[in-house]
Amino acid sequence: MRGALKLFTWFGIPVFLHWTFGLIFVYILWHAQSNEMSVIDTFWLTGLFMALFLCVLLHEYGHALTARRYGVKTRDIVLMPIGGVARLERMPEKPIQEFVVAIAGPMVNVVIATIILILIGIFADPAYLEVLKDAVLQSSGEEVLDERLQEIPQLLQFALNLAATNIALVLFNMIPAFPMDGGRVFRALLSMRTGRAKATRIAAWVGQAIALMLVGYGLWSDGFMLAILGIFVIYAARSENEMVQMEDLLSRFTVRDVVRPQFNRLHTNDWMQSAIELLRHGLERHFLVFDFNDQLVGTLEEDEIILAIRKSNMSSEIGQHLHPAEVVSVDDSLLKVYHLIRQQGFGIIGVMDENKLIGVVDEGGLTNFVRLEARNG
Ligand SMILES: [Zn+2]
Repeated sequence: MRGALKLFTWFGIPVFLHWTFGLIFVYILWHAQSNEMSVIDTFWLTGLFMALFLCVLLHEYGHALTARRYGVKTRDIVLMPIGGVARLERMPEKPIQEFVVAIAGPMVNVVIATIILILIGIFADPAYLEVLKDAVLQSSGEEVLDERLQEIPQLLQFALNLAATNIALVLFNMIPAFPMDGGRVFRALLSMRTGRAKATRIAAWVGQAIALMLVGYGLWSDGFMLAILGIFVIYAARSENEMVQMEDLLSRFTVRDVVRPQFNRLHTNDWMQSAIELLRHGLERHFLVFDFNDQLVGTLEEDEIILAIRKSNMSSEIGQHLHPAEVVSVDDSLLKVYHLIRQQGFGIIGVMDENKLIGVVDEGGLTNFVRLEARNG
């Protein structure tokens, strides 16, 4: 992943630290400086942030490992100052599964907070707990209380802060601003009634409205992190909604609706020159390549041809530049083609009808089809 430092791989999932994470340390130093904090206090504050991000990491593993139970892999986990992201390869489509995956993250923080509070209950000096009770109930005067709060040992303060931030994490994540966890829970519940596409449209709309309020509130209260997070949510809600609507559209069609029967065939022993000519004087950008027996053996993709032009590599054989070929059935869902082209990067795919190659579908054809259908409504 770009601009990120790989920390380690755990449970088979690589964990990355985004470069902006460095801003956390800048923030800590700035905060310590402007509040004239001692070295020890700065140390504790740094420790608190590190512990907090460990909790965020465990939260993301909560999502990732529940998703795994439903057969969904996690590409990686990225830690950023505004929180973590477990990048799942897809969201489970059954609403109940999405519900469980979404809620598993915050549940991890509930468990962490509970454990910390239980440990505090067991190990902390009751005298300090008394002070805390007064602080919560505000039963003594403020100045006296301040003084007594100062006496609380740093480890206990640390534990209390960590428990409190975990609880804050739960509350914050459960805001129903799709695609935050609460928003996903919201969509999953809606999906059970309205179907996924409509549920996503509603959840994205609500999510963007709430995120806009977060941005407004963030700017008004100098909470820039909140504003940045709000912008992030608006953007993410939009792009995820577009993706779901697209998938919904494509799932209603089959390959038969886009198959192109006319296409140029290349052979393994053709020169690159012939591919370059086709690219220059035609509309096709990617080609199927066949051997002597007219068996499909691979594809020649546009970037390979451009590379050959750049290197003036006109006379090498096409067979040296092949990518693996993929075929689909004419009755397959268009969604399958979309995943092959957009996610796995195939430029062109052969289309089979009962063991016979009847045509191709490529990137350009798919894009045209989507544009036409999207316009139709
Ligand atoms: Zn989460």
